[in-house]
Amino acid sequence: MENDQYEQYIEMPEKFHSFSTGTLFDRCIECDKYLLDADTEYYIEKAIKRYDGFSAQDVIFEYAICIDCVERIRKEMSEESLKKIEDFFVHNMDMERRMNLVNTNPGNPDVWTSECLIKGTKVNQLREFQLYAHCKGEKLDMRESPYLLGNEALDEIQHLLSQKTLDELNGFRDRNFGPPPELEETLPYRRVLLV
Ligand SMILES: [Zn+2]
Repeated sequence: MENDQYEQYIEMPEKFHSFSTGTLFDRCIECDKYLLDADTEYYIEKAIKRYDGFSAQDVIFEYAICIDCVERIRKEMSEESLKKIEDFFVHNMDMERRMNLVNTNPGNPDVWTSECLIKGTKVNQLREFQLYAHCKGEKLDMRESPYLLGNEALDEIQHLLSQKTLDELNGFRDRNFGPPPELEETLPYRRVLLV
């Protein structure tokens, strides 16, 4: 650890606090497990909508989910979908660009989430995006996260998914956020749970 170029775990940046409470996420959205014990691993996902010409943005949804629940839900998704998503990242992610961004901005989560991981589109050019973070207790795990996916990449991923997987993700969405008809368009199946 002492030899690492920078800390693997850093204080949770404010952008990964809960927008609705203003503090750290402390419960798994699925099983209600307490998340802030030092060795508890979990993920945070936030979907955000931007408005052209305005600095204000809306949080469409946000949640934290423990690693056990992610694994359980992934098992319900089709093998085919999981493989397609993996292939999508392998073939579409510009690894060199990402490594360059990370290495020239060590330990800087704001820069790491300043553009789409797949397309490289800058966040201020995106209509909608999702943020992903891998966390442990009160800390952000900086090994592979945080990162951002823009609406274009999210749409492409969504089109890869099988009906079984879409049903599973829809179930997750309806269970946790309800099925409000007016939000139907903005709460798609999307890449929930697959970080
Ligand atoms: Zn859980």
